[in-house]
Amino acid sequence: MDAARLKQSWSLVAAHGDQVPLYFYSTLFLSHPETRQMFPTNMAGQRDRLVTALGHIVSNVDQVEHLVGFLQDLGADHRKFAVRAEHYPAVGEALVATLQHFLAEQWTDELAADWTAAYGLVAQVMTEAAQAAEAVNPPWWVAEIVAHERRAFDVAVLTVRPQYLLPFTPGQSVGVSHPSVRSWRYYSPANAPRADGTLELHVRAAPGGAVSSRLVYGSAVGDRIHLAAPVGDRLALWSAGSSDLLLLVAGTGWAPVKALVEQVAAEGSRRRVDLYVAARSRSELYDSEAIDKLASSHSWLTVTYVVGADVHRPGEFVHAVDRALADGDWRSRHVFVCGSDEMVSHAVQTLLQAGFHPGQVHHEGLGSQWYGSAWRTAVQETTAGDTSGGGNR
Ligand SMILES: Cc1cc2nc3c(=O)[nH]c(=O)nc-3n(C[C@H](O)[C@H](O)[C@H](O)COP(=O)(O)OP(=O)(O)OC[C@H]3O[C@@H](n4cnc5c(N)ncnc54)[C@H](O)[C@@H]3O)c2cc1C
Repeated sequence: MDAARLKQSWSLVAAHGDQVPLYFYSTLFLSHPETRQMFPTNMAGQRDRLVTALGHIVSNVDQVEHLVGFLQDLGADHRKFAVRAEHYPAVGEALVATLQHFLAEQWTDELAADWTAAYGLVAQVMTEAAQAAEAVNPPWWVAEIVAHERRAFDVAVLTVRPQYLLPFTPGQSVGVSHPSVRSWRYYSPANAPRADGTLELHVRAAPGGAVSSRLVYGSAVGDRIHLAAPVGDRLALWSAGSSDLLLLVAGTGWAPVKALVEQVAAEGSRRRVDLYVAARSRSELYDSEAIDKLASSHSWLTVTYVVGADVHRPGEFVHAVDRALADGDWRSRHVFVCGSDEMVSHAVQTLLQAGFHPGQVHHEGLGSQWYGSAWRTAVQETTAGDTSGGGNR
């Protein structure tokens, strides 16, 4: 397999933009109509997710040994779309037909053989992982919404109870789908595992967002949603050893970090934890009652609110990281950062410039797709060394 040839041909195809997913899906649904049900009713939101991920992954097949873990997670995770082993060849055929169409006279027998072999390898790793996962977890869990609280105009806190125990580690995220929307998005449980198996989800409605709007504005107690197996280890507490922590959050980035704080409380260690919670206005601090309660119950936890656009306090810091660095020297700490992609990238850059080591900065942005960023991180870590110190989901 000639990896350089694969990459070069993929970049030629990708230059055709939106035409590529359009052709791919038309080919797939025409030749294999049974695959249509795996995709959202409204394909506009799907955009180029699958095709882009496929193209990148397959054309980087020369790093497959480094990507095995990621591909295994992806294979296990794709069971939630009701993807079965027999669907992989259908997707492979549509991918090859799409490449052939856009490469036109540049499509050769060698290229066809390379793409088929590369896709076959990726599909094999994913299929085997999906089969292995069958023995461990169901493809998805049905969960009932047992509490639904609107905490802000666009934020709801949901408590959901899966029918069967859904094991997860604080800092991870689970796939969530509302049956009427049939799309999956990740949300991070905001609690350490509980004896009754319930999960707390903090959901901000993205303007025009399919799943988040449904969960915030169009769901109620008693509704059933679907949850998929947890993903991600970027915010895992074990990666900080036993060191003291600095936590920087904004918006619903508080959710996985709340789970970490609960885990610190449960482990009964003596680590110190300083939490900075940023919001544009006080009305965005949707969980301050719980935060204040945590702070008053645990002497090791100190909380600082950073309210950027507060008209009563002009000149205040906008970003949690700027305020934290003005407050003290935290370079002996492990730092966990979670919020929008923009908030996270500002925080990470600022911390690295301030002399923090990448390995002590753990971060997750809520903006991108899990597989997109996890794939990027896996590739970056294998090609350029780990300069990120974590993912940017
Ligand atoms: C690991 C991870 C953990 C996460 N945890 C949380 C969490 O705990 N809480 C939380 O609130 N969020 C979380 N997110 C974000 C969440 O997964 C969703 O991305 C978010 O809720 C938006 O999903 P949606 O379906 O509502 O929006 P989408 O339908 O995916 O749309 C997203 C945005 O794109 C725009 N858009 C939609 N369709 C189009 C189109 N055709 N063309 C152009 N623009 C379009 C929408 O207007 C919207 O602003 C997490 C994300 C990741 C990756």
